Amino acid sequence: MNIHEYQAKALLKEYGAPVADGIAIFSAEEAASAADKLGGPLWVVKSQIHAGGRGKGSFKEASAGEKGGVRLAFSKDDVVANAKQMLGATLVTKQTSDAGKQVNRLYIEDGADIDRELYLSLLVDRTCGRVAFVVSTEGGMDIEAVAEETPEKILTVPIDPDKGVTVDDARQICDALGLADAARDDGIHLFPLLYKAFVEKDMALLEINPLIVMENGRLRVLDAKMSFDGNALFRHADIMKLRDLTEEDGKEIEASKYDLAYVALDGNIGCMVNGAGLAMATMDIIKLYGAEPANFLDVGGGATTEKVTAAFKIITSDPNVKGILVNIFGGIMRCDIIAQGVLSAVKEVGLSVPLVVRLEGTRVEEGKKLIDESDLNVIPADDLNDAAQKIVAAVKGA
Ligand code: GDP
Ligand code: MG
Repeated sequence: MNIHEYQAKALLKEYGAPVADGIAIFSAEEAASAADKLGGPLWVVKSQIHAGGRGKGSFKEASAGEKGGVRLAFSKDDVVANAKQMLGATLVTKQTSDAGKQVNRLYIEDGADIDRELYLSLLVDRTCGRVAFVVSTEGGMDIEAVAEETPEKILTVPIDPDKGVTVDDARQICDALGLADAARDDGIHLFPLLYKAFVEKDMALLEINPLIVMENGRLRVLDAKMSFDGNALFRHADIMKLRDLTEEDGKEIEASKYDLAYVALDGNIGCMVNGAGLAMATMDIIKLYGAEPANFLDVGGGATTEKVTAAFKIITSDPNVKGILVNIFGGIMRCDIIAQGVLSAVKEVGLSVPLVVRLEGTRVEEGKKLIDESDLNVIPADDLNDAAQKIVAAVKGA
């Protein structure tokens, strides 16, 4: 689960990290008083959406002006004018889809005078099985490009879970970031508390891009992207409260109600599969035959007819879906349950696109029989290869 920058900064502030004063606003009327409270002389008006690259992004509406989603303002009027332009407008960045995201909240922040922009993140590094700092002097811009073109400018520092961030670790990070004097002292203080926040709150990612050295020589967290391990959210009621459903895919929210593992993707073949491994394999084979999956969907081991119906509804509610591939291996799951689920779902929501069904395993004959005896226009398939080729052909022919 992701949260907004202003929420992440409030959390980091509780841990003692240096962040600027700021006020989140939901309407343009609040802009003037927020600007007054902060006092200036420099403010930053920041779009709050769950995507990065806001500074270099652009708004769909001409009324939102030419500037990106993060704007410096030099007077109170400037703050208000920019707030009016951005609120309600749709911001497109490298990390959003082409449709962009509507800006419903702004963060008005006390502006900083920047000397250097650095990159710092904390993540779970699966290679070494530890939480690791990833740092670079090349912050503030496209870190993906740095990773690709000059990977030697990025350093990974894994942290021993028994020791936490040691003085040596902190020094190593300071050296990599070229921190001296007051900024170095700030770093030595900051890195352990970021690690503490990361571990205590079960984060999956904490990305600070940029971490800045200000002209006064001090460090400040200028941007913060935070995401949490969904499997641990049950023990963080405070974090759950920060969830912003307007930022999440409606189909994914619906799927989570039925405990379905669903991830929306950009392709046009809807997939209903049981087991994450089989779901991955199904997506791969669709790509192998030259098409793209519209989703990842694992209906799970013990799915009921109700669950399968819900899954089918979610798939067909995606207007991009031009064909559906049901690929079930009945182990614990019974093929006849799946068949019933598919049939009842089709009865309820109709079927306007080709449907290929591949069933194998427990009660496969009963399952196939149910589908054969229905008057549904289902294309049966024998194995995974056959199924993938058939659905790709059906979608391309359509
Ligand atoms: P992102 O584009 O979504 O990553 O948003 P950021 O919060 O990282 O802001 C983008 C850029 O705006 C930063 O890299 C800075 O160059 C600039 N910026 C943000 N806040 C300030 C500030 O307080 N002062 C100055 N001078 N620039 C800022
Ligand atoms: Mg940033």
